[in-house]
Amino acid sequence: MPETKLITYPHQILKKTTKEVAEINDAIKKIIETMKKMMKQHKGVGLAANQIGENLSIFIAIDEQKGKIETFINPKIIKYIGKEELKEEGCLSVPNVWGYVKRYPQVIIEYTNLWNKKRKIRAKGLLAHIIQHEIDHLQGILFIDKAQEVFTLKE
Ligand SMILES: [Zn+2]
Repeated sequence: MPETKLITYPHQILKKTTKEVAEINDAIKKIIETMKKMMKQHKGVGLAANQIGENLSIFIAIDEQKGKIETFINPKIIKYIGKEELKEEGCLSVPNVWGYVKRYPQVIIEYTNLWNKKRKIRAKGLLAHIIQHEIDHLQGILFIDKAQEVFTLKE
């Protein structure tokens, strides 16, 4: 099996809008498994499919409240709640770079889960933050495109 690598900036796939998933088949499930493996390996809290080179509308995120990784297929934020605030963030695809990005404290998101069930959840805290970052990925937007201040940390 070829080794999957994490795609890093400025790879062009990170700038593309991802495609909707038509059917959650074995190939899709395998991609999601690889995403989970990669996220754990790199100690991330969220990962979008295009970060492993798959141009698909899928992301995963750690849901701290439920203590598990949730899979979001064809996700859409349908409501932003509260006042935007500046949040510090980084990205596995932009190593050693950090910045401050405006994010909403809560969002309502609709998506299909791994078991092909439609879900609508109200997310807050870290999960809401991750969701907004990953939804941007699926639209070809990186946090450095939006950040107000960007700084680099040397290894
Ligand atoms: Zn990212």
